[in-house]
Amino acid sequence: MKVRNNIFFVAVATAGICQAAEIGSPSGRLFVATDVTENGTPVYSVTLDGKTVIDKAPLGLVLDFANLSEGLKEKGLSIEKVRRSYTQDKIKKSRIDVDATVATVEYEGDGGKKLAVEWHVADDGVAFRYHVPRQSGKGSMVVIKELSSFAFPAGTTTFLTSQSDPMIGWKRTKPSYEEYYVVDAPMDSKSEYGRGYTFPALFKTPDNIWALVTETGVDGYYCGSHLSDYADGRYSIAFPMPEENNGNGSVEPGVALPGYTPWRLMAIGDNLYPIVETTLPWDLVEPKYATSRKARPAKGTWSWILWQDGSINYDDQVKYIDFAAEMGYDNVLIDNWWDTNIGEKRMEELIRYAHGKGVNPILWYSSSGHWNDIEQGPINRMDRPIERKKWMKWMRDNGVDAIKVDFFGGDKQETMRLYEDILSDASDYGIDVVFHGCTLPRGWERMYPNFVGSEAVLASENMIFDQKFCDKEALHATLHPFIRNSAAIMEYGGTFLNKRMNKGNDGGNIRRTTDAFQLAVAVLFQNPVQNFALAPNNLTDAPAVAVDFMRNVPTTWDDTRYIDGYPGKYAIVARRHGDTWYVAGVSNLDKTVKLELNLPMFEKGDRLRIINDDKNGEPIMSEIIVKNPSKVAVTLNPSSGFVVCD
Ligand code: CA
Repeated sequence: MKVRNNIFFVAVATAGICQAAEIGSPSGRLFVATDVTENGTPVYSVTLDGKTVIDKAPLGLVLDFANLSEGLKEKGLSIEKVRRSYTQDKIKKSRIDVDATVATVEYEGDGGKKLAVEWHVADDGVAFRYHVPRQSGKGSMVVIKELSSFAFPAGTTTFLTSQSDPMIGWKRTKPSYEEYYVVDAPMDSKSEYGRGYTFPALFKTPDNIWALVTETGVDGYYCGSHLSDYADGRYSIAFPMPEENNGNGSVEPGVALPGYTPWRLMAIGDNLYPIVETTLPWDLVEPKYATSRKARPAKGTWSWILWQDGSINYDDQVKYIDFAAEMGYDNVLIDNWWDTNIGEKRMEELIRYAHGKGVNPILWYSSSGHWNDIEQGPINRMDRPIERKKWMKWMRDNGVDAIKVDFFGGDKQETMRLYEDILSDASDYGIDVVFHGCTLPRGWERMYPNFVGSEAVLASENMIFDQKFCDKEALHATLHPFIRNSAAIMEYGGTFLNKRMNKGNDGGNIRRTTDAFQLAVAVLFQNPVQNFALAPNNLTDAPAVAVDFMRNVPTTWDDTRYIDGYPGKYAIVARRHGDTWYVAGVSNLDKTVKLELNLPMFEKGDRLRIINDDKNGEPIMSEIIVKNPSKVAVTLNPSSGFVVCD
């Protein structure tokens, strides 16, 4: 292992020769090196303990008025160490200490054209963004192309999910980050649609170094980006497709000068700890506004998941409100069609009924709109400010403090601005926001204090729609803690205790996973607002041990630790709520394995409770007395899981 003594150093340049900068992480293990090619294109590389993570990969921007990707020289470098702390109550940790080396590399070319790249090099990963000063008399830029790219060494394998074609799927609502993952694939395999891959994207180099690539700090002043297909030895930043949002809005983002691009980031490690535990997506952003009240974490029920559209009527909603009250839950999610099936006046009555039971309704809205064919109402209320504020006032007047907004039009800047507009207006009316049919949130948990969740995953609803998804449930669950749910909170709407995916628990698709698995994902899938896929019949037909666990499981966490696993095989993660640790594991292996877990949060003599399978695969709770915290024995059955808590 090669650890350099200097935290950072700069290779000295002589006049006329390209400079090169090296920026080291606080521990000195992770290094970024920058350079400029012969034709003046900035490049960077990344090493961990001297092993290549990223091989010379281009950087730079092509703007409407200047090409800042060639003919450049490094002109200046400033480096400093930063230490700061912040608190968060919506993500995997509640108190985060940021310790990083930050650097700005300035480039200059003919005619005085200028570009700067800001680097953030921490022990758990690397991030960069561009800064463009005012120049050539220009106060704004259109970014035609971003050269930012990722050149992993030959032999790297990938864990990726494809970008969808635009304007396909249900009522022409894609892309919406609801595609399958391909696991441990070679880099030169083609994406499903030839449109590249959505963030986050996981890579493993031949030296067994892991890198989780994503972006953060994307707001209404840029588009959401994704990765291209592999070409010329690298993946590059790709902008949205012109057809997205029904062709409305530009693909190339417009930015006021001086201006910044979002951060491109990589969590990096020679093991999976930083991949699961990284906080880089939030370390690099700041809250954009203050709210009058803190976001309200909550557990809830929703009729739509198992009872579907037909249940959005007054009487069925009363049943789910009563069920939420019975479970001790805070929320009931009233999904699509309430505007026509129940109507505004009876909704006011229903909301009062819910409040009388101590339950808070979340109301569903379509985001659209002029960009898809959605019929489910309410429509045309969240996409336009005058209507939006009218309905937000109606909700505030009736004590509704949370909404779910669905079916967005893609990743163009125009759509990013809509997300921000909805969040900002909702904050003014004391409303928390969940997004569905949507993009990946990119630092939004911290940027927007009333943002409480996004889908952006092939979520629980697919188990109702298609048996194939039930068959792949265990595979997906072993990926999310390492990929999708590491980069952002994930409103998955899971934990079924129905064995059959219908209202009567007697037909429809067949769940392949055990109840213990379902309890484990309540901990593994992290979102501060959880709408669980439980149903009123579970009070009588599900095992009491499972229902009791679901009454008490927290939805906010003070700490998160990777324990064991491998993406696609099995995943074991520990989360702490207050003084209580929950260790949750799920398996996609095809046979039973006995594991000895290192659980340093426990001590010799601790009495732990474990829920796993009895011999019939039904959930059973038993006690573990810890003899050696570094060797706690658990058994992991195929398509099953466990939860341990103290
Ligand atoms: Ca969806």
